[in-house]
Amino acid sequence: MKVLVAGAGLAGLNAAWELQKAGHVVEVLESNTRVGGRCWSDTLPNGEIFEHGGEFIDVNDHTLRRLCAEFGLPIVGLGISFDRRWQVDGSIMSPEVLGDHIAALAAAAERLAASRGYRVSLREVAREAYGPDYEKLPYCQKLFATTTCDPDQINGIAIARMFQGHAKSYVEHRGRVLAGNDAVAREIHRRLGDVVRFGTPVVEVRQADGQVTMRTASGAEFTGDAAVIAVPLPKLKRLIATLDLPDLMRKAIEGRVMGAAAKLNIAVSGEAPPKGIQAPNAPWWSWSTAAPEGCDVARGSLTSYAGGRATMASLKLEEGPGHWLDLTRAYRTDLTVSDDCVLTNWGTEPHAEGAYSMPGLDWEPAQDRVFDQKAGAIAFAGEHTRFASLNGALESGARAARLLTLI
Ligand SMILES: Cc1cc2nc3c(=O)[nH]c(=O)nc-3n(C[C@H](O)[C@H](O)[C@H](O)COP(=O)(O)OP(=O)(O)OC[C@H]3O[C@@H](n4cnc5c(N)ncnc54)[C@H](O)[C@@H]3O)c2cc1C
Repeated sequence: MKVLVAGAGLAGLNAAWELQKAGHVVEVLESNTRVGGRCWSDTLPNGEIFEHGGEFIDVNDHTLRRLCAEFGLPIVGLGISFDRRWQVDGSIMSPEVLGDHIAALAAAAERLAASRGYRVSLREVAREAYGPDYEKLPYCQKLFATTTCDPDQINGIAIARMFQGHAKSYVEHRGRVLAGNDAVAREIHRRLGDVVRFGTPVVEVRQADGQVTMRTASGAEFTGDAAVIAVPLPKLKRLIATLDLPDLMRKAIEGRVMGAAAKLNIAVSGEAPPKGIQAPNAPWWSWSTAAPEGCDVARGSLTSYAGGRATMASLKLEEGPGHWLDLTRAYRTDLTVSDDCVLTNWGTEPHAEGAYSMPGLDWEPAQDRVFDQKAGAIAFAGEHTRFASLNGALESGARAARLLTLI
């Protein structure tokens, strides 16, 4: 079977690789000039590797961890807590309090679901869980920043259920691939061989007579027996215009919301002990990470992260990194913050048109399994079809490959 794959992020690459291993011929069409998509590593002038996009690898990210083990890519601990952030007054919530906050959100979500049904926003669930001052609560600030979307536009019940497991099994020790997370994408690409066509954005997908055709921006057409569509959500919403999809699948795609986020990666001189600190009176944070023991890699970087368009607007990103850099330097007095920095604004990045996605207000539980089926000879992959993470993208690619190879 010949399979076309749109998108060479982790989802599309993993789908292509699983299909190729199963003996199928794959051709991957990618709009950008590199593989990896939102998994994109780079180097600061001081030699420090940083992540423009997906960074933290969770303990339960089994597919990603298994691939790293197979590829001989060490994952190093970042040495900071992700859900518990230091405050500028030197306080940090205990793991027990964190567990209580997560459990309170889940309980509030279920109360609201029972009384009102599923159409409840994240803001409504947070207010129900934490009372009128919910926005001042560090956990709530973290939650809103991490979801990267307007809390009025995304579904609080779906999101509370998504994070519920963390209440009992939360482990702080998240990691990152020592060589940069995108080493995973580059290694899959190397093993795939010369099957990725770069600078080839797909603008239309059609299927008829057992064949799938992808038309690209240049007008060229590619045909296969089946296809995986693994482009980011805003692109997918445009591509499905010409496709016949089950109603629930169309609703799941159209109703999902793409969020926006930005990162400022900054070189610091001297020692940068690992610490993640919330910005004072603002819903963004910054972290310095641990030097991996015994590893001869440069260290000394700080990452500021802002999730959501409202927070990003307050940082004046359209004028460049200056304002955000000043704000970061003003409160990270524990570090010597240089002027060497790289700003990545995922709100304006053309290939993804956002950071990652969340279930929209009209989410309903049945949507969670909707991508476990094909639409004709097309399977869908990407973080928006599974879980908004590096691991979720990889898993979605493996699932798409499985769907296409099942008789
Ligand atoms: C700022 C930020 C922080 C994050 N932090 C974390 C984190 O800490 N931990 C974590 O696990 N995850 C994190 N994520 C999420 C994670 O990076 C993504 O979920 C994952 O990389 C998405 O992979 P994907 O394959 O679904 O999409 P992508 O990586 O976006 O891949 C899609 C590919 O399709 C290509 N494409 C686009 N349009 C077309 C077209 N028309 N035709 C052909 N190709 C096209 C794109 O160029 C891209 O290469 C973060 C993301 C961002 C942006």
